[in-house]
Amino acid sequence: MNMTRREFLKSAAVLAALAPFARLRAQDPATPPAEGADAKPRATGPITRRTMAGESVSLLGFGCMRLPRGGDGKIDRPAAERLWSRYLEAGGNYFDTAYMYHDGESEVAVGEFLSKRPRDSYFLVDKMPVWMARTEDGLKRVFDDQLARTKAEYFDFYLMHSLGWGNWDLARKIHALEFLLERKKEGRIRHLGFSFHDAPEAMDPILDAYDWEFAMIQLNYQDWTRYRSKEQYEKLTAKGIDVAVMEPLRGGALARLNDPAKAILRQADPDASPASWAFRWVASLPGVKLINSGMGRDSDLEDNIRTFSPVKELSDDERGTIAAALAAFQQSQAVPCTACRYCVPCPAGVAIPEIFALWNAYKADGEKGRFLRGYEKLPEDARASECVRCMRCTKHCPQKIAIPDELAKIDAEYLALKGD
Ligand code: SF4
Ligand code: SF4
Repeated sequence: MNMTRREFLKSAAVLAALAPFARLRAQDPATPPAEGADAKPRATGPITRRTMAGESVSLLGFGCMRLPRGGDGKIDRPAAERLWSRYLEAGGNYFDTAYMYHDGESEVAVGEFLSKRPRDSYFLVDKMPVWMARTEDGLKRVFDDQLARTKAEYFDFYLMHSLGWGNWDLARKIHALEFLLERKKEGRIRHLGFSFHDAPEAMDPILDAYDWEFAMIQLNYQDWTRYRSKEQYEKLTAKGIDVAVMEPLRGGALARLNDPAKAILRQADPDASPASWAFRWVASLPGVKLINSGMGRDSDLEDNIRTFSPVKELSDDERGTIAAALAAFQQSQAVPCTACRYCVPCPAGVAIPEIFALWNAYKADGEKGRFLRGYEKLPEDARASECVRCMRCTKHCPQKIAIPDELAKIDAEYLALKGD
């Protein structure tokens, strides 16, 4: 039987070859588990709560985009359920999923877990991807799928997913806001918001269209000015809209950092992880009511519970420490990829996020051998050299990365390193 390349990439053999990278994603941020975790200060209470859209939400939200995976690439359900149970036990109550997370499996897994619990003991959060719905009928199909997958009667919080110029134009064309307002009237949605990935100017027509109850933006200490998150935050808070945050660790990069940046943080507080500094920086903004974190490992979850139970706002001295660490980190940053995976599947089969993860790790630690070994574990037809510059991926990348150009650079450097 002849297989297309895409079918081949989904085949068991290739999934097995990519398993180390699936695990790498599952464990994102790709750092070793926190050292000496038991010796660190314990949480002294439940996770801090804040009020978002009138609801008492745990400031730490559980983002279900990067759940632990098994060797077959599917969600490792027992591991995910263990993490979710511990999160609930620590006072967490906000579960954020989306239609395309884990190719739809995230909605199913989180729905199965939550549907066994009292409905008022958690908030279920989902999102409408207008680019996948495409038509008015498509909106209904996606929304009905989501209710079926999650076994939910209603969503507590619901967002129009990843808005910006392009998706907002499409949303208007297919009357997505009107559709969602109908679902709200029926009680299928309790609180309506949007998530956003674009220049701050693109937010203006969205804000004019409706009195949104909350909005989710990419916000962390690196993106505050670089990604213009500050302007987005200020637009929302000026309108009194509660802010939810995604990418507080920038896809794990602020948990990994590099050695000079980590040394600066360690000197200021030997017990605090780099991730805890990043979370506290975001939590110190008063308009922020919710911070989503994709927690794929027990050690990450425990570290986050410590940070948020209760959260401690930063002092001026600590802000200075973060500024110094950021300056040191930016010396070695390569590709600003957050591992969100919106760019895949690539029609040519290029493993874009996995390649960028390997590349960034190499740029941070200089471990050439590790980069070469990791890169050569990728099937040859999933490597950077296979890019045919169709530009499909660049349209979907929220970070506006010139993906084919970056891949070309990586391919050239790979060949040079190999020839050394
Ligand atoms: S530009 Fe290259 S990497 Fe991007 S989708 Fe096309 S072939 Fe894949
Ligand atoms: S390249 Fe862009 S779209 Fe792809 S994973 Fe990275 S940040 Fe996401």
